[in-house]
Amino acid sequence: MYDDLVGKGLPMWLPNGFIVRRLLSDYIMDKEIALGYKHVLTPCLGNVELYKTSGHWAHYQKDMFPKMDVDNESYVLRPMNCPHHMVMYRSALHSYRELPLKIAEIAADFRFEASGALTGIERTRAFYQNDSHIFCMPTQIGDVFKEVTKLILDVYHDFGFKNYAFRLSLRDPNDTEKYFGNDELWEKSENQLREVLKELGVEYYEAIGEAAFYGPKLDVQVKSAIGHDVTLSTIQLDYQLPERFELTYIDEKGEKARPVVVHRAILGSLDRFIAFLIEETKGAFPTWLAPVQVNLLPVNNDYHLEYANELLAKFKEHGLRVALDDSNDKLGYRMRSSQMKKIPYTLVLGDHERDDRTVTYRRFGVQEQITVSIDEFLKLIDDEIKNKALLNTENK
Ligand SMILES: [Zn+2]
Repeated sequence: MYDDLVGKGLPMWLPNGFIVRRLLSDYIMDKEIALGYKHVLTPCLGNVELYKTSGHWAHYQKDMFPKMDVDNESYVLRPMNCPHHMVMYRSALHSYRELPLKIAEIAADFRFEASGALTGIERTRAFYQNDSHIFCMPTQIGDVFKEVTKLILDVYHDFGFKNYAFRLSLRDPNDTEKYFGNDELWEKSENQLREVLKELGVEYYEAIGEAAFYGPKLDVQVKSAIGHDVTLSTIQLDYQLPERFELTYIDEKGEKARPVVVHRAILGSLDRFIAFLIEETKGAFPTWLAPVQVNLLPVNNDYHLEYANELLAKFKEHGLRVALDDSNDKLGYRMRSSQMKKIPYTLVLGDHERDDRTVTYRRFGVQEQITVSIDEFLKLIDDEIKNKALLNTENK
C-alpha cells in the first residue's frame, strides 16, 4: 500500500506481501549460504565522504536524495551498498586463501526517482536489493562468473522462467576514454566472460558500448507472461572500486595485490521481483510462496465446524499457512471466492470427510475434487512445498 502522508514511492508491505518477501529472502539466502556467501547488515545511511571516495557523489548524485547536515558532517541515504561493503572488506587483512570472499546483504537502498517515473512496486524510491560483492583474484574471475551464472539459471529454473536473454555488455573499443583501466585488462576480462558463457552453453548476445565505465557486465532480461521486459539479474566486473578504496590482499608471494570486485544481484530488487512474479503467475503463486496455502470450507457450520477447527489447528501446528471460511455464505460462493483469491488448495469438509477423517481438496485452476486421508494430504502438500513445485498454470 501507499499513503501520501508517508510519501510518494515509499511502499508499505501488508501482512500477505510480507510473507512473500520473507520467503524470497530466506530462499535466496539459503542458496547463497550453500555457496559460501557471508551475510552482513550495514546501515542505510552513509557519510558523504564515503560516496566521494566511491565516486557516486561525482557521478550518481542526481539519483540520490539530498544530503543531511548534522554535527559538521553530511550524511546521505544510500543509493546502493557497494561502498559499505568495500569498507567492510578493508577493515581486515586478507590472504589469497580467503578469496573469493562473498559478502551479501538484503539491503535497503534509496534513490530519488521523479514522481512521474514511479511505477507500482516496480520503480520506487525505497527498495531492498538482493546484493552481493565478491572479492577475488584476477585469475578467479572466470570461476566466479561461472558460479553466479549457474546460480541465476538455478533460480530461474525454480521459478519456471523460460523467457529470458543474457546480454554481455562490452566496452566500445573506439571510445576508450570513457572506460577505466587498460586495453589488455578489458580484452582479457571480456574474453573470460565469453568463455564462461560458451562453457555453460548459455545463449547470449553482445552489446558493444553498453559496459559500465568500471568493467564489462552481464545482464539478464526476463519477459513476463504478459510480455513486460525487466532486467532482473546482473553480474558486473569492477576494477575501479578496489582502486578507489585501496583494497588489497596478500598474494602467494607474500606481497600486496589488488583484488577485483564482482557486483551481482540475482533477484535484484525484491520489490521489483515480486512485481514481476505477480505478472508472471497472474497472482497464482506456487504453494511454497502463497500467503495462504490451504482454505478450509466446512459444508455446514452446525455439523462440520468442529472438524474444520480441528484441522485448522493441526495444519497450523504442521507449519502450513491455513485459513478457515466459516461465513454463512453458500458453499458454491465460498468455493468461487477461494478460487478468486488463487489459494492453491481449497478443502471441502462435510459428513463423509468428518466421519472418515478425510479431506476433499480442489487445486487452484483444476475442476476435479479428490478425497484423501489427512496424512495423505499433508504428505502431498509437504512434497510440493519442499520441491518448490510450480503451479500447473495451463488451466488458469
Ligand atoms: Zn555493488
